Amino acid sequence: MSDIETREEGTAADAYPPDERGRFGDFGGRFVPETVMAALDELEAAMDEAFADPEFHAERALLARDFVGRPTPLYLAERLTEDIGGARLWLKREDLAHTGAHKVNNALGQALIARRLGKRRIVAETGAGQHGVATATVCARFGMQAVVYMGEEDMRRQRPNVVRMRMLGAEVVPVTNGAGTLKDALNDAIRDWIANVEDTHYLIGTAAGPHPYPYLVRRLQAVIGEEARAQMLDRAGRLPDAVVACVGGGSNAIGIFHPFRDDPATRLVGVEAGGDGGELHARSLGGGRVSILHGSRSFVLCDDDGQVVETHSISAGLDYPGVGPEHAALLASGRAEYIGASDEEALVAFDRLCRLEGIIPALESSHALVIAERIARDLGPTGDVLVGLSGRGDKDVDQIAERRGDA
Ligand SMILES: *Cc1c(COP(=O)(O)O)cnc(C)c1O
Repeated sequence: MSDIETREEGTAADAYPPDERGRFGDFGGRFVPETVMAALDELEAAMDEAFADPEFHAERALLARDFVGRPTPLYLAERLTEDIGGARLWLKREDLAHTGAHKVNNALGQALIARRLGKRRIVAETGAGQHGVATATVCARFGMQAVVYMGEEDMRRQRPNVVRMRMLGAEVVPVTNGAGTLKDALNDAIRDWIANVEDTHYLIGTAAGPHPYPYLVRRLQAVIGEEARAQMLDRAGRLPDAVVACVGGGSNAIGIFHPFRDDPATRLVGVEAGGDGGELHARSLGGGRVSILHGSRSFVLCDDDGQVVETHSISAGLDYPGVGPEHAALLASGRAEYIGASDEEALVAFDRLCRLEGIIPALESSHALVIAERIARDLGPTGDVLVGLSGRGDKDVDQIAERRGDA
């Protein structure tokens, strides 16, 4: 075992910060109207102060343990490993975090920072509703007002999450502009924030948006990889050969990747939604071009004129035409690689995990399983693959049953 492999600590959560313009290499930055600049400066200062304050870390750690349920387990999927016939498959169980996915790690941290800023009103946008539920949850916990913008079409498709948000006391605002989906909800949330910026924090749900959001969200989600890296050293006695995670906006992937950045023998593999396997997909890194979307420069699925094109994935959480700028930089530098998995492949991996391990994974996470299984086969029995199991699949069972005609 090399010295690098036995290093106790992984890469620190604040290592590899963006430059003073908020860029990771050629990507990121702040492409926003002048009216938003001051609020972003204020947020950046609050973030830096919070992370330098031991009390912030202490409160966050206590809530992570008692409210979220951290550390989440590292689970050796023995029957899946046997079935695949290759490297050992280890699952980092974010599906067991409160609200059923990793999104609460970010929502909780941002709520603590909003409180430091004296802001008691939170706006957010949500597509599938998972981020909306995480936001409504932490707002209830802190006695804050949650206003969640959601496309009308998404509200219809994701009814149970709308009900959950309202039970938790959030106001869910239907968005009727455009196609009534995530992109339109985002525009309305930003508009609200600009109009109410004195008392309102905008809680972005993924590692995208203008600086400092991608850096902030990475620092808050790095706990996934910090725990998983220590758990691998403890349980497997070595670091994994590959870390595999699904990429929508990129928050769970950057969170699990980051602590392994300085472990060169560990491959970092992001999995994007390959959709129908042909023209219809959501592979921003695999099939997009460099452009500006939602305040930062990254890979975007757009046409020659920069118009965002229609994306498709069976999984609502991966159906986003952009991707966080740090992933663009990791792709450009070659440190991480990004592969697509199709709807059909994800469904096969979904079934396999259900039947062999008694775990119903989110459709998003099922995409990561597809590529993790492939890498495990290639590595053979001496290898170890760490998979970010970003969430549980309860939210997806009706959709899958309907698709199979057994609803
Ligand atoms: C939202 C979501 C994702 C995608 O978001 P990222 O920011 O890319 O992590 C993945 N998995 C689950 C379970 C989600 O809810």
